[in-house]
Amino acid sequence: MRKQYAVIGLGRFGSSICKELYQLGHDVLAIDINKERVINIEKYATYAVNADGTDEDALKSLGIRNFEKVIVTIGANIQPSILCTLILKELGVKEVWVKAHDQKHVRILESIGADRIIQPEYEMGIRIAHQLDSSRVIEYVELSKDHSIVELEATKKNDNKSLKQLDIRAKYGCTILAIKRGEEVVVSPSPDEKISEGDLLVAIGHKVDLVRFQEKGM
Ligand code: ATP
Ligand code: ATP
Ligand code: CA
Repeated sequence: MRKQYAVIGLGRFGSSICKELYQLGHDVLAIDINKERVINIEKYATYAVNADGTDEDALKSLGIRNFEKVIVTIGANIQPSILCTLILKELGVKEVWVKAHDQKHVRILESIGADRIIQPEYEMGIRIAHQLDSSRVIEYVELSKDHSIVELEATKKNDNKSLKQLDIRAKYGCTILAIKRGEEVVVSPSPDEKISEGDLLVAIGHKVDLVRFQEKGM
């Protein structure tokens, strides 16, 4: 389904979001105050516009309120980022996601109704730490303070055994959401699904349980 997105601020982070959404087949409006940045994104956006994200009239005339989601990726400059977010919420944009620079920025964005606040370096740091700490952790997504989703590579110990035989949920309190095997993805596997060494197991659970599973079950 084709959706309408807008990206305001075309640094490396905003540009990569814009390109990816456009490649997924969506309509993307890309906005930056810097002309050169706008020219550079033209090939990768449906509309590329040179405008100031804090200019309410400009945003109105672009019909910004009709976009399903708007992401504000005006970098380290926190004042325009906040002002832009405030205007978008006042104009009635349902989902406004914002890249935050630091904790102070996060708190202000929370108080003015940003729907999701992203701290790429901080979040990526946590993910990379988990990947560094265990060579078996391929992917890591934090769901809350206590819960996460990890992608783990099955070992010899798991080879040719079903989920039931391994008794993962009962023993470790973790649930396997999906099994990735080359190009194939088995979503919501049945208890009788057999695992092969090298399969990627997408597991959800309490962080403590997931570590236990990584260390004892894999
Ligand atoms: P990166 O993703 O590369 O790390 P960054 O978050 O460190 O980027 P910048 O490189 O400054 O920050 O990228 C922010 C972008 O936002 C720049 O392209 C800048 O021109 C743009 N920008 C800054 N102020 C505004 C504004 N008021 N309206 C629209 N765009 C703006
Ligand atoms: P449960 O109450 O734990 O769901 P169950 O008695 O309903 O178990 P099954 O669903 O047949 O029985 O599964 C048997 C056991 O196999 C589960 O207790 C669990 O340890 C393991 N298992 C089955 N499916 C999964 C899964 N997707 N992820 C992790 N473990 C699983
Ligand atoms: Ca940066």
